[in-house]
Amino acid sequence: MIIHIDMDSFYASVEVRDHPELAGQPVAVGGSASGRGVVAAANYAARKFGVRSAMPMAAAVRRCPQLVCLPVNMPLYVKVSKQIHQIFNRYTSEIEPLSLDEAFLDVRASEKLFGSAASIARQIKQAVQDECGLIASAGVAPNKFVAKIASDIDKPDGYVVVEAEHMQDFLDPLPISRIWGVGKVTEAKLHQLGFRTIHDLRVQPVETLVQRFGKWGEHIHRLANGQDKREVVPDARAKSISAENTFAEDISDEHALLANLMQLTEQVAARCRQHGFEGKTINLKIRYHDFRTITRSKTLAMPTNQTEQIWQTAKQLLLKQSRTQPDPVRLLGVGVSGFRGETVQQGDLFAENDAHSPGAGTAGDTRYAELDRISDEINQRFGKAKIHRGRANN
Ligand SMILES: [Mg+2]
Repeated sequence: MIIHIDMDSFYASVEVRDHPELAGQPVAVGGSASGRGVVAAANYAARKFGVRSAMPMAAAVRRCPQLVCLPVNMPLYVKVSKQIHQIFNRYTSEIEPLSLDEAFLDVRASEKLFGSAASIARQIKQAVQDECGLIASAGVAPNKFVAKIASDIDKPDGYVVVEAEHMQDFLDPLPISRIWGVGKVTEAKLHQLGFRTIHDLRVQPVETLVQRFGKWGEHIHRLANGQDKREVVPDARAKSISAENTFAEDISDEHALLANLMQLTEQVAARCRQHGFEGKTINLKIRYHDFRTITRSKTLAMPTNQTEQIWQTAKQLLLKQSRTQPDPVRLLGVGVSGFRGETVQQGDLFAENDAHSPGAGTAGDTRYAELDRISDEINQRFGKAKIHRGRANN
């Protein structure tokens, strides 16, 4: 079985935990309203007013004038994320993070030792609450697709277990918007075709969907049938580390895209550093409103895991693309690949002469021991100057 753990409004919950005076108040973490920042996370009190992540902060404040807006404190969230991952690690090493607050766990090999997947998910939820003072939602299912839906369906404080024999009963009545990557516009298109539930998609001949949506149609048809063979791939074995965001509403505004790209970049860089990975290739993925999906890559002279370098490269790729194709964007992703020797070379990371050898360049500046300090500095700078950077470079 696969467990999907997703922290409830993570950044905002961490802030409320550390500022108890904010309890019960609507809180959003993100860029400033005056600087065209976007919401990175909103707690449930804020969501009641229609505040959503990736929304411009100014729009969030219009919807909820008493909204408490806090800047992103990425070093803190990275620290808490590590704590949570240590809890996961007690049960399995097969952990695939999707972001700082979300991960798939393959616990098939752990069940003899720790009890059923359902029981492990309970234990993890409890440990996260006891040790971190935060609430996680958990979904348990035979595959990633269903586990992810299960963790989301009863949020906050969700706990949903879907056994194999009940998988289709669970999926069939769900609205198609529950499928990964189906946003509002896709949903509307699917509605036009008469598809409202996962059942409606499942009973279609796959050709109908392929005709309309290409390869993606085939993909959603398989998912609707509860088929998802994707393995849990731990970061430590990954060939690339990436993060992506499907927006609730398509985004055309370049500033908003850049602000989102920055958040994704911070996450990806933090995860690379966590594993001591340095990659040469920076990848950008964009899915447009009409399902066209493009990827653009740039290979650097030296491998890196510095936020600043990844950001500069990803930003260039995005600006170039958004100026040639200024179409509404449904999904934005950034990734790093082309790791040195693909797995971590401890020797490289700790090599004494790294920092001093002439010509070692960027890689030499990113010695493992210094990474936290460097990333904290960069993150703090970004946290404060987030929006100005995007604007100054436009
Ligand atoms: Mg979450």
